[in-house]
Amino acid sequence: MDTKTTPREVQRVRHEIKMRDVTVSRVTQTGTNMLSLTFKGEALADFVSLSFDDHIKFIFPDASGEAVRRDYTPVDYDKQRRELTLEFALHAEGAATDWARQAKVGSQAVIAGPKGSMIIPKDYDWHLLIGDLSALPAITRRLKELPATTRALVLVQINHVGDMRQFESTADIDVKWIPSTAELIAQLRALEMPVGEGYTWAAGEGNTMKLVRSILVEEKKLSKDALRVAAYWKQGASDFHERLD
Ligand SMILES: Cc1cc2nc3c(=O)[nH]c(=O)nc-3n(C[C@H](O)[C@H](O)[C@H](O)COP(=O)(O)OP(=O)(O)OC[C@H]3O[C@@H](n4cnc5c(N)ncnc54)[C@H](O)[C@@H]3O)c2cc1C
Repeated sequence: MDTKTTPREVQRVRHEIKMRDVTVSRVTQTGTNMLSLTFKGEALADFVSLSFDDHIKFIFPDASGEAVRRDYTPVDYDKQRRELTLEFALHAEGAATDWARQAKVGSQAVIAGPKGSMIIPKDYDWHLLIGDLSALPAITRRLKELPATTRALVLVQINHVGDMRQFESTADIDVKWIPSTAELIAQLRALEMPVGEGYTWAAGEGNTMKLVRSILVEEKKLSKDALRVAAYWKQGASDFHERLD
């Protein structure tokens, strides 16, 4: 009998980049500081997003009419309806956050990409997901996609209890809503890693993510193959994206 098992491997897929004209078709406040915008357009007919970790370039005019680009996570795609939903963390200032705050049904924008997908297998024994409000869309999507045969530990740092949400998931999930970065780091350090083979995904503010990564690698001794950490934004910088793994 052949007992050889296939190792779990992250698969990378490239996509042809298309620019898609879209129009806001629905605006929903999903938390105190979170706004869900659904975009509609015939150009979305062949939109593809294979991973919760994907991002698109959201292209929109700023207050002076200049085209600005920012990265956002495709949260939900409905091919039948030609609709794509993104969720915007509302923070103090920024062209994208300002645009989202004033968006109405009929507001126009352009979506480019995703240019690639990193498909992380779902059949690990466990998943550890770490992030702040900017990562909540990706975490929400991942939890929805995970099967009932796995478990997920989720650490989310939020500034307002009004941003807590009920996740949809068939997996066995354990969610901690954490009020500060210092507490996030303390809880991560104190976390007893589950047994079995797992994958850890983390995204959020750049300096916090550097620290998260060093704890995962140096203190938790996680293999770099079972880990993805990304800076989704950086305190004091505009349009910042860095992969830390
Ligand atoms: C792969 C990827 C996927 C992403 N997915 C999402 C997503 O689905 N939803 C989402 O909301 N964000 C997401 N982000 C983060 C988003 O792209 C940034 O927050 C972006 O900088 C926001 O643009 P802005 O024009 O509002 O602010 P910017 O002009 O970029 O920045 C203005 C100021 O706001 C600060 N700032 C920027 N972002 C934040 C924040 N999140 N919280 C607090 N302060 C901030 C900056 O430090 C700067 O001082 C993602 C980023 C990446 C790289």
